[in-house]
Amino acid sequence: TPVIGVLALQGDVREHLIALAAADAVARPVRRPEELAEVDGLVIPGGESTTISKLAVLFGLMEPLRERIAAGMPVYGTCAGLIMLADKILDPRSGQETFGGIDMIVRRNAFGRQNESFEAGVTVTGIDSPVEGVFIRAPWVESVGAQVEVLAEHDGHIVAVRQGKALATSFHPELTGDHRIHELFVDMVRAER
Ligand code: GLN
Repeated sequence: TPVIGVLALQGDVREHLIALAAADAVARPVRRPEELAEVDGLVIPGGESTTISKLAVLFGLMEPLRERIAAGMPVYGTCAGLIMLADKILDPRSGQETFGGIDMIVRRNAFGRQNESFEAGVTVTGIDSPVEGVFIRAPWVESVGAQVEVLAEHDGHIVAVRQGKALATSFHPELTGDHRIHELFVDMVRAER
């Protein structure tokens, strides 16, 4: 059984732990470099990307995480987690850094104030019927490099991508009872072991 960490600095950690367990992984919170070293894959939750960035530096996780992602550890980021996996943020707050791993440019809070939160069915490549997309002050992906596979769009904007062992969605499957995207990620981790 793959052991999958959830980066537990800030955000909806508990929901991801539950979704991963439902998808047949052993799920553990990760706050320290020693805990990171023990997992086969990692989820980066939704929350606030500027806060996650600052806390990652404070907890000494920024460099170890960049290294493991660059070395091919499977990672899955939702919403703020998607932002953390972007090689570039279009409008970063000052001092905001990312782990990188996906050759894409993201726009934070892209779906705008009026639509700060909404739900919509999203068709995702590799999943046989639409998933319920929960978007909360969600980013979208402005552009992707040649190595990135676009898995889903909403309203003409990219909202799910994969590059190698890195997966990211603008929306939050962990807030629904539908664990198919977590299962997809657990399969990616299993294939890597
Ligand atoms: N707007 C948040 C950010 O920029 C992301 C929101 C979320 O994760 N639901 O980090």
